Amino acid sequence: MSALPWHREALARLAGRRERLPHALLVSGRAGIGKAAFAREFARSLLCESPQEGLACGACASCNWFSQGNHPDYREVLPEAAEEGDDDAPAEASKEKKSLVIKIGQIRALGDLVSLSTHRAGFRVIVIRPAEALQPAAANALLKTLEEPPPATVIVLVSDRPARLLATIRSRCQVVALGGPPRDVAIAWLGAEGAGEPDVSSRSPVVRRSWHATWLPPRSANGAAAWWASCPGPTVRTPSRSRPASTVRNSTAP
Ligand SMILES: [Zn+2]
Repeated sequence: MSALPWHREALARLAGRRERLPHALLVSGRAGIGKAAFAREFARSLLCESPQEGLACGACASCNWFSQGNHPDYREVLPEAAEEGDDDAPAEASKEKKSLVIKIGQIRALGDLVSLSTHRAGFRVIVIRPAEALQPAAANALLKTLEEPPPATVIVLVSDRPARLLATIRSRCQVVALGGPPRDVAIAWLGAEGAGEPDVSSRSPVVRRSWHATWLPPRSANGAAAWWASCPGPTVRTPSRSRPASTVRNSTAP
């Protein structure tokens, strides 16, 4: 899943800074707007060996490995229950028997990874999502890594609820605050995805699309428009405003 249309501008801006990236990013925003897709596409762009204006070329060896899910310098850390998901929609009830947390063993395993040189002499990217699923011991283990950032490694935390993270972790990340799509873009996208049932409570298009894919036959774009129009809620931020937020504090090695 590549980045969603409403995040492409922010992605290009961020990926274009590859020479000046911090060791850790915190990608935040409400559930279901495509944060996981953003993080993954950012990683793909950073690992690409022939980036086009900062973004993944889609044709090099690195891009091929990434699309096949076996890039040696990419790691995604998520709860067992979310391992089959491709977006930042909440875990489904059917997965409730699997772990909903990120355990300390998963973070410790990263230690072995980052102690090695990168395979392709470029970046190594680790995406952790949702970061609020980190168990306390796992969060503390991650903090130690952030305090002594490994070379050539970018750690991307993805969170719907950044306030739940340790303040010491937040302070070591540069925040990338993502917004949802403008209404017309969301309607067009939902229509293209075949989602159109108006009576769903979620205003988040990715959640909406996932729900639809599970339960509904394809519907029309008109149905999507009706659904979107029926949703109460705050004004959705446009992509041009969903810029990387100000740096709280970049991590520095002690
Ligand atoms: Zn490439």
